[in-house]
Amino acid sequence: MLAVMCIILAVVRGLLQVSEVGRFYLSVRKSNGLIDMVKQNCELCASELIWDWQLLDFFNFKVRLRELICSTCRMAFEKLTGPFCQYCSRAIMADEVICFDCFTWQKQIGGLFKNQALYTYNSMMRNFLALYKFRSGYHLRALFKQELEETIIRLQTDLIVPIPISSQTKRERGFNQVTALIDGLEVSELLRCKPAKERQVQKSRTERLKSSQPFFIVKDVKKTVSDKTICLVDDVYTTGTTLRHAAGVLMAAGAKSVCTVTLAR
Ligand SMILES: [Zn+2]
Ligand SMILES: [Zn+2]
Repeated sequence: MLAVMCIILAVVRGLLQVSEVGRFYLSVRKSNGLIDMVKQNCELCASELIWDWQLLDFFNFKVRLRELICSTCRMAFEKLTGPFCQYCSRAIMADEVICFDCFTWQKQIGGLFKNQALYTYNSMMRNFLALYKFRSGYHLRALFKQELEETIIRLQTDLIVPIPISSQTKRERGFNQVTALIDGLEVSELLRCKPAKERQVQKSRTERLKSSQPFFIVKDVKKTVSDKTICLVDDVYTTGTTLRHAAGVLMAAGAKSVCTVTLAR
């Protein structure tokens, strides 16, 4: 009996795949009274989202996740597809290898770390991050979670270290926006932020340079870090200074190499 049902299911599924019937979809609209169950608005532009379900999805055993944003907003996020700077992922001309900023940094401080960014920091990304970080948008982490996690997994590093936020920010925001974006991965929270007061102490140039380092490594993890390849993760790459500081702390603790991944550049 079960075998017969499986055969029937397979035949129907096959027919749907090759016929226009498979493209049929059911749109639940206001008029049918079900709207209260499924009515949603785009989280970014507030336009109404149409919940559609394709018949083929059922036969493919697909689970449709709740959409958070509309297709217009989705398309306004600009993916970085290259050519881009091999160090920071900034878009560059086809005949360039690194961007001017990285060229300058390299001359000033030497070895740079490779950063892989997924999206351009355009106005839509800015809106998204403002909502996500500052206006109770914790649930919006779902928008980029999978993509970011897959990018990090592909790098196959020994450890994944998120950039920390200060305890005050954590209290106010309620979550670390970086850790939340990759909460499906096992991360090592090895870095902490120095108290702001300590960072502002500016006596001599040497002390100033020392105190400009905003991070320190948690105690007793030298063994954990020693000779390990590490992927540092942050939400936005602006000048790269934050990531360079964090990478510097990890390298000083004995890491073998550090690369970085950011959602936006
Ligand atoms: Zn929208
Ligand atoms: Zn660059």
